[in-house]
Amino acid sequence: MSIVDNIYNPERECMSKEDRAKLQGEFLKKTVERVYNNVPVFRERMDAKGVKPEDINSIDDLKKLPFTEKTDLRDQFPFGLLAVPQSEIVRIQGSSGTTGKPIVAGYTENDVEVWTEMVARAMSAAGATKDDIVQVCYGYGLFTGGLGAHQGATKLGAMTIPMSSGNTQRQIMMMKELGSTILCCTPSYATYLGETIREMGLVPGKDIKLKSGVFGAEPWSEEMRQHIEELLGIDAMNIYGLTEIAGPGVAFECKEKHGMHINEDHVIAEIIDPVTEEQLPPGTPGELVLTTITKEGQPMIRYRTHDICTLDDTPCSCGRTTIRMGRITGRTDDMLVIRGVNVFPSQIESVLVGVNGVAPHYMLIVDRVNSTDTLEVQVELTDEMFSDSVSKIEKIKNQIASEIKSVVGIQAKITLVEPKSIPRSEGKAKRIIDNRKI
Ligand code: ADP
Ligand code: ZN
Repeated sequence: MSIVDNIYNPERECMSKEDRAKLQGEFLKKTVERVYNNVPVFRERMDAKGVKPEDINSIDDLKKLPFTEKTDLRDQFPFGLLAVPQSEIVRIQGSSGTTGKPIVAGYTENDVEVWTEMVARAMSAAGATKDDIVQVCYGYGLFTGGLGAHQGATKLGAMTIPMSSGNTQRQIMMMKELGSTILCCTPSYATYLGETIREMGLVPGKDIKLKSGVFGAEPWSEEMRQHIEELLGIDAMNIYGLTEIAGPGVAFECKEKHGMHINEDHVIAEIIDPVTEEQLPPGTPGELVLTTITKEGQPMIRYRTHDICTLDDTPCSCGRTTIRMGRITGRTDDMLVIRGVNVFPSQIESVLVGVNGVAPHYMLIVDRVNSTDTLEVQVELTDEMFSDSVSKIEKIKNQIASEIKSVVGIQAKITLVEPKSIPRSEGKAKRIIDNRKI
């Protein structure tokens, strides 16, 4: 393991659980007061539930509070959820709109600072220091990825290259010439970069100096991590965030790579059963619900992320005492229900990455034929396999079909397509085409 586990803010990241719970209680109380007094829709909801700010005194009281949904951000677009005068807002970021209409979030100066530190913590955990050269290939703009990573890297004093997304050849040229050591982008783009680097005849470790990558913004599997690590010769670290809460840096992995430490001094996490809305204990998968406790501009109370994961409160050997969240196994919005079975694209991905002869580029095409749902998985053959015998290719097809059947429980039609025929993404990958008419 090459990463030295730097802890950016030991006082906050390694504090005792009791002290943290106390701090969270105080911060939560202040946030609820502020929100109740300044955001009409929150006040109405709390009143409707019969909850007053004085009822909130510790984190155990969190469950008394009403939830917030993405539709609230849309209904209150653009400034209806601000808890400060508009003149205090110094930044607007917006959702990339993976699902539906875009939303915006306003940040005060302090909100930007807090967010910046959250990302600096994540980058430190990935081994970044002021001596590093950080190449940011997340898009710059309303999307939080680019500016978020940029601010965090700059805070560490690292040399930060604001490449933004796109123009893969130029990305690689700069990576080589400037000697970038840390890469920030989506995992799907990291794969694409890795493949292109190799096609260009460049050798990671020699021509390319990357040592680690901080990848997020979309779900990815453990198998995909291994693939990226081998392709680029790096440690591939997971980072999680969403516009509504801050952006990237809400949670991040340490060298142990077993769950992302949540920045709990700024955000409280709960897992709920998405149907009953009851809190679930650590270890049980459910929907992640987040509450910001230091945000001034647009605080979020019990925000339903629709992201599915588990929490892990067992101790971590890195020394951080914060709770960890597991990989996002899917978004409830992303979940496909095919013939009554819940299917997440990440389950299919974990199968495909493990199969020799296919590249981890795929599309899921869902349709309905004679009232029955169908799933077609299009996956690319590797160059070597493409020229191989029909019988070998047929064998791969059968292998994929049977593994998908055993993991997901449904029969899928497998279509093996030519290398490079599935569009590559420079940001968040789009992997589902659902042709069913509801
Ligand atoms: P959207 O994708 O909704 O337009 P954002 O750009 O704010 O808006 O993306 C936030 C969402 O991206 C999260 O709710 C989650 O679904 C996904 N995401 C972010 N980081 C990760 C990650 N490391 N693993 C899985 N999903 C992630
Ligand atoms: Zn750790």
